[in-house]
Amino acid sequence: MREIKETAGRSLVVGKLPRGCELCMEGAKLVLFVTGLCPRRCFYCPLSEKRRWKDVIFANELEVRKDGDIIKEARLMNALGAGITGGDPLIKPKRTIRYIKLLKETFGPNFHLHLYTSGRTVTKKLLRDLSEAGLDEIRFHPSKSDWKKIEWALDTDMDVGAEIPAIPGKADEIKVFAKYLDDIGASFLNLNELEFSETNAQELRKRNIKPKSGTLAAAEGSEETALNVLKWAARNLKITVHYCPSSLKDSVQLKNRLLRRAKIVAKPYEEITEEGLLVKGIIQLPNKGLNDLKRLKLILIRRYGVPQKLLHIDEKNMVIETAWYVVEELSKELKRRFNAEIGIVEEYPTADRVRISYTPL
Ligand code: SF4
Repeated sequence: MREIKETAGRSLVVGKLPRGCELCMEGAKLVLFVTGLCPRRCFYCPLSEKRRWKDVIFANELEVRKDGDIIKEARLMNALGAGITGGDPLIKPKRTIRYIKLLKETFGPNFHLHLYTSGRTVTKKLLRDLSEAGLDEIRFHPSKSDWKKIEWALDTDMDVGAEIPAIPGKADEIKVFAKYLDDIGASFLNLNELEFSETNAQELRKRNIKPKSGTLAAAEGSEETALNVLKWAARNLKITVHYCPSSLKDSVQLKNRLLRRAKIVAKPYEEITEEGLLVKGIIQLPNKGLNDLKRLKLILIRRYGVPQKLLHIDEKNMVIETAWYVVEELSKELKRRFNAEIGIVEEYPTADRVRISYTPL
């Protein structure tokens, strides 16, 4: 019987962790969302309204308008590779191959690329083209009628595996698939903990799948199903089987990706938290204009000695941004003298800069 090991990211694996997963846990993979289009329409599809089955392109949280956006986003997180996902990227094969070539040409042959596909549109020629373009690893999420396409991929230089959610109560069906993958000589099977999202919750509940208490989004019984398969695979198969809990995505993978980006994009007045968020102070002058903000900025420099590099006027939101400790020290004074509104904000260091919290002082 093989040993079940806990990985650095607290997932569980029998066998050798796929390279794509190693880099993903480090947060070193750009998430390249090639299209939201997908021929499968799984009832558990977790894609958000904004992306689900729409032909949109994102590099991490940045909506891609031109190819250069992808390179810029990869640089801003110091990426060591990319996970090419969707939807099904192979609904748009020319676009996908163009991106594979672009990333390999820009960042070199060691920039690791893995791709997820339902396999529905896969042909032998397309698999050869993907491999020749530089794709390192392909992960299938197929319906039964597309299983044989996994065998075609084994004739290329790519690492070949599968990735599916562990649907509660479906251990026996997953074992049949795992045995098939083992028999044909595929490298790995990844089992993801099934997750609730705003778009799949109704379909999951219809099937009597419930949220797991004490978690953000995990489905009850999914982990037990995955562990059942993992233990069985440890005794009966040679193939790598890896269970990725939903907590890993937020606590390890996302956090590490945010930290990598934060280190590059943080301004001198933004402090990086342990979770990879950016904290700063903001000063607003209600009912006043840009010239008033500019005047206040000068006062902060001349009268209060705040270094210029710790001050920035965000003209879109009409606020002065500065360090959190500056607003903490000066809040009383600025409120009394200038009727200012002062607060401390926490933001994601992502392209969309989503604000997580605002604490008024
Ligand atoms: S294959 Fe993936 S993207 Fe397509 S419907 Fe299923 S879960 Fe959604």
